[in-house]
Amino acid sequence: AEEDLIRSEQLSFAGQLAAGICHEIRNPLTTIKGFFQFIKEMDHKEEKYFDVIDEELNRIEKITTELLLLAKPNSESRSKQNLVELVENVQMLLSTQAVLKEISIETIFLDEELIIDCDVSKIKQVLINLIKNAIEVMDRGTITITAKRSGNMALLSIADEGPGMSQEHIQKIGEPFFTTKEKGTGLGLIICLNIIKNHNGKMNIESELGEGTTFKVSLPLVQ
Ligand code: ADP
Ligand code: MG
Repeated sequence: AEEDLIRSEQLSFAGQLAAGICHEIRNPLTTIKGFFQFIKEMDHKEEKYFDVIDEELNRIEKITTELLLLAKPNSESRSKQNLVELVENVQMLLSTQAVLKEISIETIFLDEELIIDCDVSKIKQVLINLIKNAIEVMDRGTITITAKRSGNMALLSIADEGPGMSQEHIQKIGEPFFTTKEKGTGLGLIICLNIIKNHNGKMNIESELGEGTTFKVSLPLVQ
């Protein structure tokens, strides 16, 4: 199954996003408020109730941090970078995390130099989000990152050996706050889409249930 992930209706989601933000932040706030009230009335304060509050506060912090990434798409400083080096950089960054799950991150560079004009930290963010997602859905196995030139575009693919996604599952991707993870925020891929769009690129997804998922990113090369 293949889907073009940059669909205009998904990127004009201000209203949807605002409602989502309220919902996502209100849930942990309600829990915090409830537990706080509860603790106030207790004679013997129990650690575990503080832990619940702590966890919910962390959740709010995580969501707001990720939302900030979405809110600042224009504060970009561009420079010419070799995409191959950025991939190697992020691969190194995440390999320790991957090794803990017996996952190896392999790279195949069909071209050694893929120069793009980009905001380094933002493109790294995209790579981190996509590779992290792959790590999170796998128990063990290999994540294969391929990079090559095609015409005036740099093509990057990140293939995992995870559970893959059904057509319905793929359709939901790009909806703010859609997550299937207990501790997920459902913002990672939207952040990626935004950054790639700002770099005049594209992102596609290919996924087959039981087979795995491949995210394909294309970015314009410097001429
Ligand atoms: P989060 O990781 O916080 O859930 P994302 O926006 O990164 O948010 O991803 C949204 C959802 O897309 C995930 O919860 C998962 O259901 C699905 N998804 C993303 N990447 C993959 C993948 N590589 N394999 C299977 N499902 C994925
Ligand atoms: Mg994610």
